Parts: sequence; C-alpha cells; structure tokens
Amino acid sequence: DRIAAVDGGDRGVHAFLHVNTEEALAVAADVDARRAAGEELHELAGVPIAVKDLIVTKGQPTTAGSKFLEGWMSPYDATVIKKLRAARMPILGKTNLDEFAMGSSTEHSAYGPTRNPWDLDRIPGGSGGGSAAAVAAFEAPLALGTDTGGSIRQPGAVTGTVGVKPTYGAVSRYGAIAMASSLDQIGPVSRTVLDSALLQEVIGGHDPFDSTSLSDPSTGLAAAARLGNVEGMKIGIIKELHGEGYQSGVETRFNESLELLRGAGAEIIEISCPNFGYALGAYYLIMPSEASSNLAKFDGVRFGMRTLPTEGSITIERVMSATRAAGFGDEVKRRIILGTYALSAGYYDAYYGSAQKVRTLIQRDFAAAFAQVDVLISPTTPTTAFKLGEKIDDPLSMYLNDVATIPANLAGVPGLTLPGGLADEDGLPVGIQLLAPAREDARLYRVGAVLE
Ligand code: GLN
Repeated sequence: DRIAAVDGGDRGVHAFLHVNTEEALAVAADVDARRAAGEELHELAGVPIAVKDLIVTKGQPTTAGSKFLEGWMSPYDATVIKKLRAARMPILGKTNLDEFAMGSSTEHSAYGPTRNPWDLDRIPGGSGGGSAAAVAAFEAPLALGTDTGGSIRQPGAVTGTVGVKPTYGAVSRYGAIAMASSLDQIGPVSRTVLDSALLQEVIGGHDPFDSTSLSDPSTGLAAAARLGNVEGMKIGIIKELHGEGYQSGVETRFNESLELLRGAGAEIIEISCPNFGYALGAYYLIMPSEASSNLAKFDGVRFGMRTLPTEGSITIERVMSATRAAGFGDEVKRRIILGTYALSAGYYDAYYGSAQKVRTLIQRDFAAAFAQVDVLISPTTPTTAFKLGEKIDDPLSMYLNDVATIPANLAGVPGLTLPGGLADEDGLPVGIQLLAPAREDARLYRVGAVLE
C-alpha cells in the first residue's frame, strides 16, 4: 500500500522498476503460518526487502537500468537472492539505478530518475538511488545495493539512511551484473545500523561461485551493533576528506559526531592519507577499463536486445554496432570509450598502469592509517543532495561527488554510512562515513551503533 501511495505518478518517488506483490505476500503468509505452527525462523524471516535491479532474480525482470535488458529474465538467482529466500525474506521488487550502475544521481536510468523523498526535486544519489529512496520513503525496511565507487554509501548519505559496503569478498558477487569486478561489492541498505548488520549476516559468507569470495568473512556483526561501544578506541579523521570543498552544514554535523565519539570514550586523532587526492582519477580509469571489458558481452547475440542495421549488409559486426548504439545510454557509452582508450596498446601503461600504481599507494595509505587507529571517519559526501538536472550535463562535477567513497573500493576495505542529522542551510540529510580494515566489518557496526 505504501509503495502504491508514494512511488507512482509524475511526482512519485519512483524507487521501484518492478513490484513483486503476489510472491512477496505469499512468502509473508507462509512465514506467518510457519511461526503460528511453532517453527523457529530466522530473525529477518517475513521482513520485506527491495533489491537493486543489477542483481539477477529468477521470476522477476532484471534490467540493470538499461534499455538493453528490457524484458530480460534471468534463468538463475544471484547467491544473495538465494540467501534471502532461504531466510524467508519476501522480495518486494527491483529498484531503480543509473544504467549499469554508472552514476551518482539515478538520472542515468533508462526508465526515468528516482526522486529523493526528502525533497522531490532533488536526486536520491546513485547509482543505487532506488534502494536508498525505497528505504527512506518507508516503502521497504531493507534493501540491497551494490557499491563500486560509493553506490550504496552516497545514496545512503543523501537520503538519511544506513548503507554498508562490506569488505571486498565478504558478500558473493555471483549474480550481480558486473560493472568493475575488482571494485564491485553487494551490501545492505536500512534505517538502522543493527538492521544492516543482521542483513549482512544473511547475505555474507563464502561462495564457491565467486572466485574472490573470502573463506573467513567477518561474523559477529549483529553482536557488534548491539554492543555499540567506542570506549578506548582510536578513531582517525582523514585530513584530506573534509574541510575545503565540503558544505558548511556537512562539516558542522561531522564535527558533532566527533564530539559524540569523544564523549563516549574514543580518542580522536588526525590522520593524513596523502594519496587520497589521486583516488578519483585512478578510479575513473580503472572502473571504465573494467566496465568496457565486462560490457563486451552485451553484443546483441547473447543477452537482451538486438537491433538490425537500417541499411546495408547484415554482418555480425554491424549488428553489434547497431545494437550497442541503440541499447546503451550516453554515460555508458562515455565510459566504454574511456575504458577502451585507457586499455589500448600504447596507452595502457600511461593510463591503466599508472592508475593501478596509485591504487597500491592508496592501499598503503590505509595500511599506515590503520596501524595508528581502529577506524577512520569522514563525511560520506561533500554536499547534501543536489537538484535533479543540476549536474547531468557536467560529468566531472558528478564524479566529484564520489571523492570520499572511492578510496574504500580501491583498497577493498569496508565502509558504512549513517545519518548524521540535517544540514542547517538546507535541512537535508548529512552522511557520516566509517571505514575499517579489511575483514573488520564488525568494527563499523560497533562504532556506528554509538553514533546513531
Ligand atoms: N558514482 C560512481 C560511478 O558513477 C559509483 C558507481 C557505483 O558504485 N556503482 O562510477
């Protein structure tokens, strides 16, 4: 009912691309019947969840926000979906996203933008704007997102929700349509820190279908969220990720969180991560490079649409070209061109090779930082939600939104965003980001619970 009330129409939130009412209600009814019969079920059994439409689901469409996959049905479930089903969580439907998860505003969806429930003229972040908006608008208590450069955390920040990018490998990527495989990670979106912890426990764990899946992913996440304690912990402020270029209302709320942590017994230390300034540049070479390769499978033969050339001969190459020209939006094309250029002979070392070296330097910055502190903290985004249309013609200023979220993906470390209150100047949500060493996801939940 809530989805029907707020999601549709010209001024609707438009968080969902597909609503799975019948199946979700059937799962819920089955859970009720089992509980009535005395069966012990998982804590989250019967709690509905929305799923970013980049994650494949049997029996429901998966579009990746692209015209290319319109009407396509996956023959299998992603590992995380199998786990949700095993926990008997009703899957409410599929949420809107920037096409193939490329963007920071959900305006690059082929199915129209999602609106921010706090102000319908503003963006809900991206690429997972649909999942964050669904949770913020009380259309779903939980959602799944994917985070390659911030697509869980940046939408979380601008919609006042909690979002977590787990340690790389902690949650199986099997069945998440690949954007940049070395950076992609599925994770939870929720309204509370504990809810995300419970959900990460459901979806996490080793998966033989994902070769990068960890053998010993973090456990004890919900216990850490319930503990919520920072007594004696060292927390590092990243010098490079606040101050200049950050909105004043964001800074004010950020400073308040530091006070709160100090009051709760944490020691706050300033840390410098000198190479973080190069993270954005490295990301926007590595990500398009990997994406250009991953998206090569959308060739008009194997998946989704096929467009025949309107004139001339019908050869494989010409069909491929006509299909890709018609099926992909501008942002996806821009990144494929950037990526193939960066990977081409003669430029490979200068661009992709240099970016990989920067990636190593960023990993070293994290290692040095975590030798001094338990957890790092920063604002999640430099500003609150911007207006729909404001940055759509300026890709560089759109990319700048990811400045604080990208380092975690480049290093594979876990990150969490949680609401830090509303900015004084515009009354919009501010996100606080916590970062921990790889496999120490539990620390994020422990500290996050103190801040909420
Ligand atoms: N905004 C980033 C980008 O456009 C984030 C992408 C993501 O995390 N999927 O690449």
